[in-house]
Amino acid sequence: MAILVTGGAGYIGSVTTELLRARGEQVVVLDNLFRGHRAAVAAEVPFYQGDIGNRELVKRIAQEHDIDACIHFAALAYVGESVSQPELYYENNLEQGIRLLGALLAAGIQRVVFSSTCATYGEPQRIPIDEGHPQLPTNPYGWSKLFVERIMVDYDRAHNLKFVALRYFNASGATPERGEHHEPETHLIPLVLKTAQGEIEQVTVFGSDYPTTDGTCVRDYIHVADLAAAHALSLEYLRSGNASTAINLGNGQGYSVLEVVEAARQITGREIAVEMQGRRPGDPSHLVADASRARSVLGWQPQQSDLAAIIGSAWEWHSKYPQGYAEGSKSDRRRA
Ligand code: UDP
Repeated sequence: MAILVTGGAGYIGSVTTELLRARGEQVVVLDNLFRGHRAAVAAEVPFYQGDIGNRELVKRIAQEHDIDACIHFAALAYVGESVSQPELYYENNLEQGIRLLGALLAAGIQRVVFSSTCATYGEPQRIPIDEGHPQLPTNPYGWSKLFVERIMVDYDRAHNLKFVALRYFNASGATPERGEHHEPETHLIPLVLKTAQGEIEQVTVFGSDYPTTDGTCVRDYIHVADLAAAHALSLEYLRSGNASTAINLGNGQGYSVLEVVEAARQITGREIAVEMQGRRPGDPSHLVADASRARSVLGWQPQQSDLAAIIGSAWEWHSKYPQGYAEGSKSDRRRA
C-alpha cells in the first residue's frame, strides 16, 4: 500500500513525507513545483511533476502504485495574495482540488487527509477556537479551503469518501533537513530570521491597532513535525474505518507578532529591526486553537509546543541552509 502525497515538495508536505517514510510507509509525491522544491523530496521517493487537476496523471499514478490514501497538501497559501488575486486560489485550490477528488474516487481511492486551515474560521467569535466554531473566512484562501471541506462532506454521503480535514494554525519550525522556504517569502518567522541573518533589513509588522495586548496580530504557532505526526495519525484513523471529521492542529497558545520578534531576538542573539505598517488585508486579529479533539480523537501529543523550541529549530535550519533549497546550496545533499 502506498500513500499519494500531493504537494510533497512543499513545506509541510515534505516534512510529512520524511516522517511517513521513517515509519516505513511507501510514499508517492505529486507536485507541480510551482512553489515546491524538488530538493525537498528524497531521490528514492517516486516523484511525479504535474498538476493535481490532471486527471490522466492521477489515474496513471494510481495504476502504477497501489495507493490506498491521499494526503492532499498541494495548494497556494498566502492570505494577502488570495485577496489581490482570488482567481489563483479558486482555480488552484478549488477547481484543481475538485478534479483531484474526482480522479481519486474514479481510481477507487476513498481516504483523504486534507490540509485545511484555521483561516476557514475567519474573525473569531470566541477564543480558543474549537471545530464547532462558525466558519466565515475573511479571505479567498480560507474560502477556497472551506469549499473543499464542504465538497468532501457531500462526496462522503454520495460516494463514501472518508476524510480528515486538518485545520492547521500557524505551521512553523523545521526538522534538521527540511524547513520553510517560500518564493516569495511572506511568512512571519522566516522573515524574522532572514532579518536576523542580515538578508533583509527589517521586519514589517502589519498592523498595530488590533484589539490584542500589544496591538499586533496573535497567532498559534505549531511545529511542522507535530503537524506531520498528526497526518500519520489521521491515516491510521481512516485506515481503521472511522468516520470523516475535521480537527484543529495548534498549541492553544497565542503569540503576538512582536512577541515572536522578541523571542527570535533572544534565540538568535541578533538585532531584529521592525517597521510598523498598516494592516494586511484579510488578516483576522486572533487565531488560537482549541486542539483537544486532536488529542482525544487521534491521540495526538505535540512534542515541540514551546515557541522558543519552534523558532530555535527554524533558526538552526536557516543557519545551516541560508539559501534554503535554492540550487547549488547544500540542500542538494538531502537527496542522498
Ligand atoms: N506578519 C507581519 N509581517 C510579515 C509577515 C506576517 O506582521 O512580514 C503577520 C501577519 O499579519 C500575521 C502573522 O504575522 O498576523 C502571521 O503571518 P503569516 O503570514 O506568517 O501566517 P498567516 O497567519 O497569514 O497564515
